[in-house]
Amino acid sequence: MSQYVETPPTSVQELRRSIGELSLRLRTSRPQERAAEPRFVAYDSIRLPDGRLVGRKKVILMSGGCSVPTCTMCPFTNENNYGLEGAASRDGLLDQVRATLTRTDAEPAYEVLSLYNDGSFFAPKEVPRDVQVEIARLVAAAGVGRLVVESLPQFVTERVLAPFVEALGEVRLEIGIGLQSADELVRETLVNTRISQVSFERALKAMCGLGVDPKIYLMVKPPFLTDGEAVTDVVQSVDYLTGLGVAGMTLCPTRVSRNTVAWELWQAGLYTAPNLWTVVEAIRRVHERLAVRVACVNLRGSDFESVFPDACEACADKVVDALMRFGETGNPSDLPEDCTCRPPLDVMALDHEAIAARAARHMAVLERTGV
Ligand code: SF4
Ligand SMILES: [Zn+2]
Repeated sequence: MSQYVETPPTSVQELRRSIGELSLRLRTSRPQERAAEPRFVAYDSIRLPDGRLVGRKKVILMSGGCSVPTCTMCPFTNENNYGLEGAASRDGLLDQVRATLTRTDAEPAYEVLSLYNDGSFFAPKEVPRDVQVEIARLVAAAGVGRLVVESLPQFVTERVLAPFVEALGEVRLEIGIGLQSADELVRETLVNTRISQVSFERALKAMCGLGVDPKIYLMVKPPFLTDGEAVTDVVQSVDYLTGLGVAGMTLCPTRVSRNTVAWELWQAGLYTAPNLWTVVEAIRRVHERLAVRVACVNLRGSDFESVFPDACEACADKVVDALMRFGETGNPSDLPEDCTCRPPLDVMALDHEAIAARAARHMAVLERTGV
């Protein structure tokens, strides 16, 4: 009789599991529930795909947050009612949306409504299915021109989208998907987001079939990568998305926030947010190679406490302003020139074996220091 031998998991699978577990373990829930009121409301202007500059209202609903909060840099569970019973109550969500859509004389005019829930709008655990459709009806009745929500792609199927789009009527829908990276090791293990290539491409197809605009977020320097690898990762990811016909991409330079794996790595001296000049280099390369429009998320966000990408005192503010301007115009002459502080950047191919080995070493350091 042969002896039963358990097959050891491959090292990348093991790494993925241990990073995901640590991510979840670092999450904390509040002792007391926060009130069912949007946790963030702001007004600004954005450029639509047709080139028009229009007003936008951006709202982050108070909710139970992401139902799959494994990502190594994501701080949203610090800001909402993560882990608390009944945090995604349907009345609480609908009341917040009704209040959001009630226009007052003092309110700036807006055509675009970005309605975020710190997670996946189309995940039924986060926003129940009937509440999703009711929100679409409310938005359609309020005279909004364009609605933006975010979701992991596995929740974006034709079956779910079709009734939603129908209830939206004339309102154009845009769905933001945080793909983060086209590289499987980077995306599924280092960022540890639950997005497979298959589910992503399926979601894109469903969106395309229903006239929904995708907006894909890519990270600049996920945890465990170097600045040089981060540039390659962005270039390859933009290549991949361009090949799929995606035009709307936004780069998100990593911010380091509490209760995340990124924070623990930073505390241990094993990771820093990308240098601002790395972000500039990544944009330059994708712009030159592909002539796509790449915007950068606000590098001075005020929605939660975190350590931002930085450069030196003399240039940091100028670089951030220039990146924001470039996001508006798409004109490479708006990108900043140079500064003596710019560190040498060793842009290199993604050596999966070396990266996985480094990530395993860094995880072992965290474990030894009792994280
Ligand atoms: S980045 Fe998105 S999917 Fe990942 S933990 Fe945060 S909300 Fe969830
Ligand atoms: Zn500088």
